[in-house]
Amino acid sequence: MTNALPQTSDVVVVGGGVAGLSTAMQLASRGASVTVLERERLGNGSTGRAAGLLGQLRGSPAATRMLMDGVQIVAELEERANVEIFVQTGSLRVAQTEERAGEIRDLVEMGRGIGFDIDHLPIDEVSSLLPYMRTDDLVDACYCPTDGHLQPAELVAAYLKLGREHGVVYHPGCPVRGLDLTENRVRGVITDHGTISTGVVINAAGPWSYLVAGLVDTPLQTAALGHVYLTTRPDDSHPVDRLSPAIRDRHLRIYSRPESGGLIVGMYGPDAVQHDMAALPDDFDMSSLTVRADDLHVALLIDATKRRFPWIDERTPMTITRGIMTFSPDGKPFCGQRPDFDGLFHCSGFCGHGIVQSPAIGVIMADLVLDGSTGYDIEAIQADRFFDHPGLQDRSDIEAACYQMQAGYYGRIEDGDGGVVDEPAGDGPTS
Ligand SMILES: Cc1cc2nc3c(=O)[nH]c(=O)nc-3n(C[C@H](O)[C@H](O)[C@H](O)COP(=O)(O)OP(=O)(O)OC[C@H]3O[C@@H](n4cnc5c(N)ncnc54)[C@H](O)[C@@H]3O)c2cc1C
Repeated sequence: MTNALPQTSDVVVVGGGVAGLSTAMQLASRGASVTVLERERLGNGSTGRAAGLLGQLRGSPAATRMLMDGVQIVAELEERANVEIFVQTGSLRVAQTEERAGEIRDLVEMGRGIGFDIDHLPIDEVSSLLPYMRTDDLVDACYCPTDGHLQPAELVAAYLKLGREHGVVYHPGCPVRGLDLTENRVRGVITDHGTISTGVVINAAGPWSYLVAGLVDTPLQTAALGHVYLTTRPDDSHPVDRLSPAIRDRHLRIYSRPESGGLIVGMYGPDAVQHDMAALPDDFDMSSLTVRADDLHVALLIDATKRRFPWIDERTPMTITRGIMTFSPDGKPFCGQRPDFDGLFHCSGFCGHGIVQSPAIGVIMADLVLDGSTGYDIEAIQADRFFDHPGLQDRSDIEAACYQMQAGYYGRIEDGDGGVVDEPAGDGPTS
């Protein structure tokens, strides 16, 4: 850390990933003085590991609207920061079973109902769009032309550039060690470099956010779970255009998008690694996570990948990216205050979608802090929804519920309202 900490700040954001940076930028653009404290380097937590896929159509109209608005916010960021963040490739969901086809029908109906551009796509057209993908086992597909991916590093750069313009102060290398409370009200944050007086603290510490909540002995229902994806090198015999559509194959639990002439393929496998963030050193760098050659998760990923892209196997030149996601028991984030402490806001639990949620989440958090409410429908992401849930107070119960959610993140079958209607046994990558 180089500069001295400010003595006071209207808001202190704990964590310099996309959630904290977007929130800080939005708050400062509305006139608040904002300080971001980051344990290590800005944008180097989960944010620095993300694939960035942006599929706007979610299980509910409220979540879909948030992502559709996010695309507009990103367009403004691109213009103001002069960087390309969004790559509009379109996206496809493919179904190889009748249950999955039903899920696609529901999504198309819901999307059309809210004016989202989505339609079924005949399988022969899927083949011409994606000549490098196996399609003979598909029964249905739908296409969303306005989807694509966000480039996480460029998104971080834009948040920082515009945040600085609005006066946000950033302090990397400055872990928050404690919160100063008077009765149940936040008064400040404590670090090795001093204390900052503030009435508002935002816990945007991603996989570490349950530890930040733990500083004031309040359980936050999140867990830190591992995730891997592969990136192939360009291959002349299977060229991948930079604007080839992203793919979601929930039966195989995989997603895919183009990357530098190769293909990214990631998987929500049935058995994610559970991380104890308290056991990691202060200067832990997520990019230092390595993968063993015989790693089970990589083997499952490659197995599922070659079922959809038969030209990819264990011998294909590729890199493996390993990172840590922040899961919640219901797959949705926590945004806002809870009944225990005035001035402590949580902004965490983004599972596999924090990059794409961050543009609208920043607006929502700024609304909640400055106005006490927001025009967005945030019922499903209220920070207090599990506050006194009797089965979700101990770490072991919370971790079990989050683990369960990750395992079913792609495997389960959803109805049009985002509820689970079926969770067939053996729906995993090896079935
Ligand atoms: C492999 C992988 C692939 C992914 N793919 C996608 C994708 O395709 N699309 C998508 O939208 N999302 C994806 N995600 C998820 C996405 O990366 C996250 O949801 C998002 O980055 C979360 O941002 P965050 O700001 O909440 O957390 P982070 O980026 O982890 O930021 C939290 C920050 O808090 C800091 N911190 C922790 N404790 C303290 C403390 N005590 N004091 C100060 N600072 C602290 C950490 O150092 C960290 O920098 C992926 C994630 C992974 C791991």
